[in-house]
Amino acid sequence: MQTRSLSVPDGCECLFCQIVNGELPSEVVYADGDVVAFRDIAPQAPVHVLVIPRKHVACVDDLRDEPDLAARLLLAAAHVARMQGLGRDGYRLVINHGRHGAQTVGHLHVHVIGARQLSGMLG
Ligand code: AMP
Repeated sequence: MQTRSLSVPDGCECLFCQIVNGELPSEVVYADGDVVAFRDIAPQAPVHVLVIPRKHVACVDDLRDEPDLAARLLLAAAHVARMQGLGRDGYRLVINHGRHGAQTVGHLHVHVIGARQLSGMLG
């Protein structure tokens, strides 16, 4: 019988659940009991890390009943940014939501982007 993390639904096809489970390779830079952080496969800046909950949460809207997890995700993103050396010059945290927000993976993720000058909202 296949063993899965308790936080991942059986038979879940989600790409990021597969990363949480170690079924898909990724460059993990931080992990704790609640979150995993790994490098984005198509980085938009010298540092581009995705911070995700281990538990399958589809989008930011689904966090409304999970305020503790929301806080842990945000604090982990800031921790990862500091770990990546972004604390001094700053960085950007992005959560895309839904079609118009250009969310392409249906497992909540916070983008941690930095180590270059960003401009405007999308720069
Ligand atoms: P979003 O458009 O906000 O849903 O962002 C999804 C992000 O996931 C994109 O920046 C992709 O480059 C990234 N991504 C997709 N597949 C992988 C993967 N296997 N490993 C790491 N990052 C990925």
